[in-house]
Amino acid sequence: MSQTATHKPLSTGVNVGFDVELRKVFKVYGGESAVRGVDLSIGQGEFFSILGPSGCGKTTTLRLIAGFETPTAGEVVIRGQSMNHVPPYRRPVNTVFQNYALFGHLSVWENVAFGLRIQKCPRSEVQSRVQDALKLVKMEGFAKRSPSSLSGGQQQRVALARALVNRPAVVLLDEPLGALDLKLRKEMQVELSMLHRELGVTFVLVTHDQEEALCLSDRIAVMNAGQVEQVGTPDQIYERPQTGFVASFIGDTNLFRGRIEGAHPTMLWIRTESGLKMTVQPAQTTPPLTSGRVVVSVRPEKIQVSLTPEEQGNCFEGRLRDVMYLGTHVHYVVQLLSGDRITVRQPHALTVPTAETPIYLVWDAESCLALPDSQG
Ligand code: ADP
Ligand code: MG
Repeated sequence: MSQTATHKPLSTGVNVGFDVELRKVFKVYGGESAVRGVDLSIGQGEFFSILGPSGCGKTTTLRLIAGFETPTAGEVVIRGQSMNHVPPYRRPVNTVFQNYALFGHLSVWENVAFGLRIQKCPRSEVQSRVQDALKLVKMEGFAKRSPSSLSGGQQQRVALARALVNRPAVVLLDEPLGALDLKLRKEMQVELSMLHRELGVTFVLVTHDQEEALCLSDRIAVMNAGQVEQVGTPDQIYERPQTGFVASFIGDTNLFRGRIEGAHPTMLWIRTESGLKMTVQPAQTTPPLTSGRVVVSVRPEKIQVSLTPEEQGNCFEGRLRDVMYLGTHVHYVVQLLSGDRITVRQPHALTVPTAETPIYLVWDAESCLALPDSQG
């Protein structure tokens, strides 16, 4: 599609409050769509994450914002101005790349100063800005070192300093902690969060790690196969997923495929393929779910285990099949008489006399959600 078809005059003054907007953005590589009609509005100062499995189009989306890729169709707008004809170096954004991309032959100082030198920034200003950037990431003491003499975490800090030295309005981060081990990753997450608060600039983080996105973000866009499935706060994404994909990608869940047998605006009666009848809440979708096929999601921590059947809520008999002690909690695998294998999370161990003792899994209608079944 030609860019003139979608290119509008600079829309200054409109949408104040959004730093980055994507409007029906597509990116096609040799007939394959990496990004298919993405619409996003990222607020000023927001910590926004793009979350999804490998290959879903996260990096491509970030590169479209940065300007390393041009949209096949649609428009990227930064601070109210169309970026379709603006090269990367003129955009008020800086990227921290997945693999750091530090220059091995330059010192830490020179790596951070590089962009400013290219821009012919006066020497005294380079001096103070590099110093400030290194201080922000606590690397002042490493200015003369070469990147190869640094640990992964330290290299990550230098890559951050190199992005921050340009004082961008928006910092784009592509899996910045992906190469670090778990402990360091957790530490760097805390630092990223502090840095974001300190700087007050917009962060757009790409990650495949749901825990990272949930704990750092103001809002998250969940991507699947080139499309955004849902945008929301961590709480909304976890508690109110709008698709089966989001429910299963974010956190652990038990999914049942089934059919709607009865509908009320706030309640649905479902029969699962395995023959269970349950009462569930409908997800907030447009149009509302009233008939047809659905996927029911029940989180492991919403399920109660009982040795006696319950009158209230959804109650199904099963047998205990496995117990996993996970330190802070216990996971039980229970096989229902219907054949469904269900994971239950409890804060403490439960005494079940034998593997053949009947046990009952109980959850109320408010603790499970019916979602549209994308597989028809
Ligand atoms: P993610 O970052 O979510 O893992 P990417 O945005 O890197 O995903 O890739 C999305 C899809 O686009 C993948 O199928 C990938 O192979 C394809 N893709 C990405 N960049 C290119 C390119 N330059 N040329 C061709 N295909 C590409
Ligand atoms: Mg990627």
